[in-house]
Amino acid sequence: MTQSDEALAMETWLSQPHGGPEGSVTPPLFQTSLFTFDDFASFEARMAGHSDRALYTRVQNPTVAAFETAMARLEGGAAAVGFASGMGAISSTLFALLKPGDRVACVEHVYPDAFRLFEQVLRPWGVEITYHAPRAFAENPELLDGVTLAYLESPNSSMMEVTDLGATAEHARRHGVLTVIDNSWATPVFQRPLEQGIDVVLHSASKYISGHSDTVAGVVISSDEIIAKLRGLTLPLFGAKLAPFEAWLLVRGLRTLPARMREHQRTADIFVDRLSSRSEVAKVRSPGPNSVPGLTGRSGLMSVEFTDAVDIPRFADALKHFRLGVSWGGFESLVVPAAITLKQAGPKNSAQHFGVPERLVRLSLGLEDVEDLWRDIERALDTATA
Ligand SMILES: *Cc1c(COP(=O)(O)O)cnc(C)c1O
Repeated sequence: MTQSDEALAMETWLSQPHGGPEGSVTPPLFQTSLFTFDDFASFEARMAGHSDRALYTRVQNPTVAAFETAMARLEGGAAAVGFASGMGAISSTLFALLKPGDRVACVEHVYPDAFRLFEQVLRPWGVEITYHAPRAFAENPELLDGVTLAYLESPNSSMMEVTDLGATAEHARRHGVLTVIDNSWATPVFQRPLEQGIDVVLHSASKYISGHSDTVAGVVISSDEIIAKLRGLTLPLFGAKLAPFEAWLLVRGLRTLPARMREHQRTADIFVDRLSSRSEVAKVRSPGPNSVPGLTGRSGLMSVEFTDAVDIPRFADALKHFRLGVSWGGFESLVVPAAITLKQAGPKNSAQHFGVPERLVRLSLGLEDVEDLWRDIERALDTATA
């Protein structure tokens, strides 16, 4: 993927050959820990910061750079930096941008390990954290008074609640608050938060960005200034760097990202229709296009609130194509008891528990045939209600 004509559609530039040596269409895999120098003068120049050639893979690697360049362009950001995991991206971002005494306003029902990072690491370090309904950031801007950083996840990945990013960014700018969003659910195919004024976008690239359930990785996209801060501080010092082979797999995954997201949307649209008409279903949580400004599509991750008629363990056990498992965003369909996984991160009176329905089940719709998947759901519902 080369930096070329800005006007090209995402599908087109993601499909361009990388332009590697010998006409290779994929980027070379630099599976090396270090890069050597031919002479003392060039080494000295590199150490003095007069050149930016690769030195050591903990901080810089051309295969990783190929992924970072593509992600920056996809999100419409100036720069990007890859990490070993989504949590590596989240913790490295927060530690680079916060200091003891700062205040964070975070969305309720945030990714469970992000919640644990806030409560078990950042709070003891001296950062104050308050949790708010995702809609409150746009509707009640006073909550940003005295806040350093607003941490968003929209849609969030268990309750599927949304935040109006444009309105939130506008309020945040007025209050001098930095905004960070976990955009893993929508991907840049369906939502580009930087264009709505959000400061920092991050992803668990383990999900849709990879798309093949074979990689754990993360990435942060932002301004040159913020990415330089991460590269100068938490990337080298925490060392949660993205490995070259994982980056190579991610570049491979990105080639099909728009096509996969369209297919997930096609299946999800049919599921929302059919699930909503079932008497065993109290509510389907699946934000669609324009359910909030700037969201242009529906991903394959949705949650379903079942009525008392459904025995949830029996439902899960009866499914054949939906495997029981955490994570999501791959080719394979998954089911998980969302109420259990969300609540395990915090004590009973915590923000993780507030308003979470007991009978919430999350589905990650994969790339299987939609009719095969639907027959599986119907059969499992019959078994679980008998
Ligand atoms: C999985 C996930 C993460 C954490 O990513 P890892 O790659 O597993 O570290 C963060 N946010 C969301 C929404 C996730 O689903």
